[in-house]
Amino acid sequence: MKITVLAGGVGGSRFLLGVRSAYPDADITAIVNVGDDMWHVGVRIAPDLDTIMYTLAGQNNTSRGWGRVGESERVAGELRAYGVGWPWFTLGDLDLGTHLARTHYLRSGLPLSQVVPLLTSRWDLGVTLLPSTDSEVETHVRVEGGSMHFQEWWTRHRASLPALAFDFVGVSSAVPAPGVVAALAEADVVLLAPSNPVVSIGAILAIPGLADAVRATSAPVVGVSPIIAGAVVRGMADACLTAIGVSTSADAVALHYGARSAEGVLDGWLVDTADDAAVAPVASAGITARAVPLWLSDDATRAQVARDAVELALAL
Ligand code: GDP
Ligand code: CA
Repeated sequence: MKITVLAGGVGGSRFLLGVRSAYPDADITAIVNVGDDMWHVGVRIAPDLDTIMYTLAGQNNTSRGWGRVGESERVAGELRAYGVGWPWFTLGDLDLGTHLARTHYLRSGLPLSQVVPLLTSRWDLGVTLLPSTDSEVETHVRVEGGSMHFQEWWTRHRASLPALAFDFVGVSSAVPAPGVVAALAEADVVLLAPSNPVVSIGAILAIPGLADAVRATSAPVVGVSPIIAGAVVRGMADACLTAIGVSTSADAVALHYGARSAEGVLDGWLVDTADDAAVAPVASAGITARAVPLWLSDDATRAQVARDAVELALAL
């Protein structure tokens, strides 16, 4: 079975752990958001690709929720002493090794989609990672009086400055990375991870041609709600949803993605059992919904969410 997943960082990697665990023999491909990427202190940072790579490799820091396990911050201390970089944005030493390696390959002229396998080949991830695009399409946030990179809005301001809009800078000239359209066309099942609908899944679907490829696949497309009981599970995605006029609820996010039968991207949608009441409004929009537990807390619950998503897809 070929399973293709659209994914952001934290929600994406937890869901991918479940897919890999439930379907160890499947051919799993993740199309990963690059909107959070940026050049910083001379290196290219790719937070969502790295979060997924570290998590699937068992190298992620589970207590802190980001970065590498066993991390140290000696280089960050030196950068701070030189006054270089953002004092509120700490890059660990091991993490910087990844950024240096990626930057080395990018500067040698390779596109990101060729750099990713060179980095991931070090570990047995069990999932093929594809960046959504090779172009540098970065998410910027428009706020009162200006605009900033998503990373500054999210990490420095903790998403507390009201966002007026999100701009995917450079998106109009971008195309899906090599392999992305084929991974959708050849899939038996396409899944939307419970990732941020605006700056993760939204930034992936904004790449010209990508949403059309989701609409064109013969595979069923099923999404998993990142919203449980009217709240985000981790992070501050509600601030992103508010900015685009979507309320923080499992049904509002499904209606925002829309039914494939009505120019949207979904055939099916999983909501948490706490959001049972969302099933009917989602169904009336032409999206088959089911209520199942959606907390990705441990291996067993993650694998069960993956099975529920794939089984809903295969039943459509
Ligand atoms: P980011 O790129 O690191 O921000 O991560 P993603 O975009 O992949 O995912 C962020 C979203 O994951 C948040 O909106 C959370 O609500 C959602 N999320 C995190 N943990 C869980 C979970 O256990 N269950 C569900 N259903 N959603 C989760
Ligand atoms: Ca992200």
